[in-house]
Amino acid sequence: MRILIVEDEPRLAEDIARSLGDAGFVTEHAADGEEAWFKCDTEDYAAVILDLGLPRLDGMTVLKRLRQAGVETPVLILTARASWSERVDGIDAGADDYLPKPFQMEELLARLHAILRRSAGKASSQLTIGPVALDARQMRISVEGSSVALTPLEYRALAFLMYNADRIVSAHELGEHVYGVDGLREANTLEVLIGRLRRKLRVPLIETRRGYGYIVATPGGA
Ligand code: CA
Repeated sequence: MRILIVEDEPRLAEDIARSLGDAGFVTEHAADGEEAWFKCDTEDYAAVILDLGLPRLDGMTVLKRLRQAGVETPVLILTARASWSERVDGIDAGADDYLPKPFQMEELLARLHAILRRSAGKASSQLTIGPVALDARQMRISVEGSSVALTPLEYRALAFLMYNADRIVSAHELGEHVYGVDGLREANTLEVLIGRLRRKLRVPLIETRRGYGYIVATPGGA
């Protein structure tokens, strides 16, 4: 799969290219926003890793132009400015995920895999991990072919974990996603929700990594 890396810091761009290359991706590089826009408009990439602070044309403008032009390539934003409002702006502008600098290459790879899986899932709206199948369009879950009734909160938690499979999701991040930024008042609320989910699924899909968070591991995945 071909990935475009848009990053104006040469050393970081090289590090990302090397890590992605080791992980089996083919990479191309753009060092400024105009070049990124030109490449995305004329070539077809599986995903774009897009720094926001860029010469000539900033990353957010590139992203908005792409989405306005109907380009649906998944975009992972990188930025040194890790504010909540910027993250929301980026997601509103059509980014698929957001990674604040500095970051670990493992984290970048995990997120890249997640957005690629998500965009593949969008096409079919089906995501299957082991015995559990998720139908995103109908918001339905089935286990070994039998449908399982989940509450909206349970569905959101499970969908988020499945779309982020093979990555440890912290309780904080999952809580924000399920309950909203201010929604999670008691720490054990999420544990209770996950406990209920596990009983309903009756298969060991969601693992707890004590002190770190939760993970759904794909067979043969991380
Ligand atoms: Ca930059």
